[in-house]
Amino acid sequence: MNSSPLATDPFTLLAAMVLILLLAGLFWAAMASSLKVVPKVSACVALANLLVAGSLAAHALRGVAPDLLTFWGSDAMSLAGLAALRAGMPALSQKPLAWRSGLAIWLCAVGTLATLPYAGDLHPHSGIVYSGLALLAGLAALDTWRQLRSRVKPGLSALLSGPLFIICALLAQRALASFLQGEAYAPDLLDADHSNLAFLWATLAMNLLINATLAFLVLMKLILQIQQLTRQDPLTRVLNRRALQEAIETEHQRMQRGKPYALVMIDMDHFKQLNDSLGHAAGDAALQRLVEVLGHSVRDVDCMGRMGGEEFCVLLPLTDLAGAALVAERMRWTLEQSQFNWQGQPWPLTASFGIAEALPSNANADAVLHRADQGMYRAKAQGRNLVQAREDEG
Ligand code: GH3
Ligand code: MG
Ligand code: MG
Repeated sequence: MNSSPLATDPFTLLAAMVLILLLAGLFWAAMASSLKVVPKVSACVALANLLVAGSLAAHALRGVAPDLLTFWGSDAMSLAGLAALRAGMPALSQKPLAWRSGLAIWLCAVGTLATLPYAGDLHPHSGIVYSGLALLAGLAALDTWRQLRSRVKPGLSALLSGPLFIICALLAQRALASFLQGEAYAPDLLDADHSNLAFLWATLAMNLLINATLAFLVLMKLILQIQQLTRQDPLTRVLNRRALQEAIETEHQRMQRGKPYALVMIDMDHFKQLNDSLGHAAGDAALQRLVEVLGHSVRDVDCMGRMGGEEFCVLLPLTDLAGAALVAERMRWTLEQSQFNWQGQPWPLTASFGIAEALPSNANADAVLHRADQGMYRAKAQGRNLVQAREDEG
């Protein structure tokens, strides 16, 4: 009895790999068409899995199916599979597909193979196929590692791109052996020797790991997108009330360690009149225009949020009342000067601004918000299109 953990026949291993790759290919195809998180990556990974599955299935049929399919066809499919994988990786960070280098490598390898008859000594074929595959896997691995390096800890980025580097090394080792050992070395995936079985087991494990790590990356992206959506106002894309209140709360805690902050409360003037005259869609467009115009007056560190209806609030870290007055006045003036047209009809946009500087005596962030609100009501009472603080402060 053979007790080696690698004991099995290569045909069964190839069949298992084909089945796993087919299932993974179908999973990624479903991801690409339904869950549109990173559709380009998913489509490329689906294609890669299906092409490599096709290549292995064709290889396993050597002697049964036509030689053109089981030799040249199989090699062309495996190279196309890794070219698809390599092409898809940059799309993980919304970059364009890297299809040119993949296509160039595929054309070189497959074109050269087409000029070599598949008969007798096959070591040049192995050399070409495994070099092409190793190069494509290496490029995909490097790309994945580079993209992850800037987002996660170095250890995690190495771990996640590791399976691709290992596949690259396994393939490169076969390419090198083909060139160095010449005729003595022409590996066939159907060989039952120990080294081929080890290669197949390692490739099977790495295939599983690559699919799992890619699924993990896509899931991470999905979670980030959902987190982002739960913090955003869908109409204006600024923070929603809850997210802004959290940001103010955090700033309030920093203030107790000596970092001042201020709030600007903004309420559009006569917004109901705009809605009633031009319609609700015009009102929505006016809110988007207000955010676009006021967005230019704030720094990157400032946070703008929609408190509800036509009311917004801006958090200004490390700013006192005088600084907030300057920012609010610049906003007021910019909005007043801005153009808003609805279906060719111009409509003046103005807003009333209330400002407040956080004080150590304010028990919580809500107290500061309330004081900024009182400033805004005062601006309304004094005729609108004004900047005001609470009566006893300004
Ligand atoms: P004031 O100058 O005193 O602030 O008057 P106003 O008309 O702006 O204030 P009021 O609070 O009376 O009206 C606010 C209106 O905003 C009422 C509501 O129909 C409208 N509104 C609230 N949310 C939205 C929204 O998401 N889209 C649109 N188009 N209108 C909204
Ligand atoms: Mg209002
Ligand atoms: Mg209003």
